[in-house]
Amino acid sequence: MSQTPDTPTSRETKTVQAMHAPDTQTGAVIPPIHPSTTYLRGAENELVGPTDYRRPEGPTEMQAAEVLAMLDGGADARLFPSGMAAIAAALESVPTGGHVIAQTEMYYGARLLFQRAQRLNRITLNLVPPGDLDALTAACRPDTDLIWIETPANPSWAIVDIAKAADIAHAVGARLAVDSTCAPPCTTQPIQLGADLVMHSATKYLNGHSDVLAGALVTAKADENWDTIATLHSQTGGVPGPFDTWLLLRGLRTLFVRFERQSASALFLAKALKDHPKLSAVHYPGLESHPGHAIAAKQMTGGFGGTLSIQLKDGYDAARKLAASTKLFFQATSLGGVESLIEHRKPIEGADSPCPSDLVRLSVGLETPEDLLADLLQALDRAN
Ligand code: PLP
Repeated sequence: MSQTPDTPTSRETKTVQAMHAPDTQTGAVIPPIHPSTTYLRGAENELVGPTDYRRPEGPTEMQAAEVLAMLDGGADARLFPSGMAAIAAALESVPTGGHVIAQTEMYYGARLLFQRAQRLNRITLNLVPPGDLDALTAACRPDTDLIWIETPANPSWAIVDIAKAADIAHAVGARLAVDSTCAPPCTTQPIQLGADLVMHSATKYLNGHSDVLAGALVTAKADENWDTIATLHSQTGGVPGPFDTWLLLRGLRTLFVRFERQSASALFLAKALKDHPKLSAVHYPGLESHPGHAIAAKQMTGGFGGTLSIQLKDGYDAARKLAASTKLFFQATSLGGVESLIEHRKPIEGADSPCPSDLVRLSVGLETPEDLLADLLQALDRAN
């Protein structure tokens, strides 16, 4: 589908132009949405266009998948109706009884899904702390099929060394999958660091406007495992709608500039808050004091992201009060959108989560950073 001109072209240029794919029939620079579920065949039963049916992919989904595969440097990509649907497809590719290693601290919804699969004896599961490569190595078995890492990991933004995790996985013949939702491909390309599979909740930075639910898997190689995922994608019909996909394509065009600005503003806030008398901790991989900073600096080349977490000395109630006292930050879940969000995380994740009860998660948007700081400072004044 791509008509990218034959000139040296950066990933950012390709993303801004969504692979330079104007509509050839009308000359529209922005390609139309293709809602049609079915596509014509010719006299010899040959396909007229690139597909016969919108499950698994119509032309709009194919264009978005092409942008995502290009961005991550992968061999192929598939779109799903949510990040969780993409995670479920990756998990479904593990053979029955297969061994999976994931993290004690990660997006809690994914952890719960893995734990459910373990309870049902679908898989055997070990959880290790994010970034603890000794624990990861120790958990590996000859039958380990999938190692699932998330970096930076919700909600302390612990960093996992992707290249080292890939070596550990490959030493036992396992696949390394990376939930790169909080480090989109404008800053980290896990496949270039050795990962086999990349997962994105496109609901977050990739779309960036809090108005699309979508997910994606990108593969390093079009191998047998990818074949399984692609077949499941088609057979289970976990495909997004064309309007959502078109909105995602629109959001993707500004990914690089949004992420750069969000990262700069988050770093500004992290530095401004780190010695605040009401806070016991500020977690942001861009701070030199963050335990994963050196690795993050190596593998997050386009910024440390717009998410940070803070912990309040006065505990649970102060955290709850803070999240309810901001005037610009919306008290709402999610991350990666243009508007800033604040969330007291423990009540969301539940009692079983290792998330500290005094932790407040911030997603920094595109507002003026000084306005955001003033908002947090006035809210901190009121949080006792
Ligand atoms: N992975 C991470 C890191 C997330 O933060 C989320 C959602 O919050 C997901 C996966 C799931 O994505 P979705 O909400 O699009 O299903």
